[in-house]
Amino acid sequence: MIEIKNVSKLYNGSKGLALKETSLALEPGEFIFLVGPSGAGKSTLIKLMFREQLPTSGEIFFENRNMADYSKRELLAHRRKIGMVFQDYKLLKQKTVYENVAFALEVLGKSPKEIQKKVPEALEKVGLSQKKDKFPKELSGGEQQRVGIARAIIKQPVLILADEPTGNLDRDNALQLMKLFEKINKEGTTVVIATHAWDLVDRMQKRVVALSSGELMRDEQGGYSNNE
Ligand code: ADP
Ligand code: ADP
Repeated sequence: MIEIKNVSKLYNGSKGLALKETSLALEPGEFIFLVGPSGAGKSTLIKLMFREQLPTSGEIFFENRNMADYSKRELLAHRRKIGMVFQDYKLLKQKTVYENVAFALEVLGKSPKEIQKKVPEALEKVGLSQKKDKFPKELSGGEQQRVGIARAIIKQPVLILADEPTGNLDRDNALQLMKLFEKINKEGTTVVIATHAWDLVDRMQKRVVALSSGELMRDEQGGYSNNE
């Protein structure tokens, strides 16, 4: 699905490389954790996959197309295929849960009929049907992130990219969220989660790609500490 070939990233005005000659292939249907300490390059990798950033050198292929060669239209199409989930949820405060999720389809120009059908389905999937008329501030952190996930999945993305999605949540909520990502993955969506929640990564037993100072240190199936 995504093939990252020898990618390095140097940000403008920064001295060191954020990513150093990293190569990585993601197959459709995979569930991958990106782990590593703060500054390791996890967010950079996610931004490159969304094409929010371009590599300084190397290439990234998405469905066999070099992402650097995208036209404007292909770039929009690329981003439509990807659901993003953020640490700070990025919900619209003035909109209800329902409206936040509906908005993701409104900006894509979907019909009211389709929106009215799909929003309840997405809310059902994340277990928030009862909270559809609440505002974000009336929800717990875990619930707010479920809205973030509903907003991502309603586009029926082929790939979900989540950057520290459980960073603001306690352990129980974080585990429930990971289980929700697992359910979405089992229904066919490829999932990539950047996190430093080692204990959860260990528990989930998925592919683990570890970065340190911009270098890929390991890429293994299964937990983390049991591979030490
Ligand atoms: P460009 O698109 O010109 O490469 P950058 O990617 O360098 O721009 O910067 C994007 C944004 O990230 C800027 O608003 C910048 O202020 C901010 N930024 C700069 N340094 C850092 C850093 N070390 N970590 C996170 N964000 C940064
Ligand atoms: P992680 O997500 O693992 O914490 P990042 O990808 O955010 O790592 O950062 C990798 C390196 O790139 C760090 O040294 C960080 O300071 C730097 N960096 C990240 N974003 C920017 C930016 N926009 N401009 C300059 N440097 C950046």
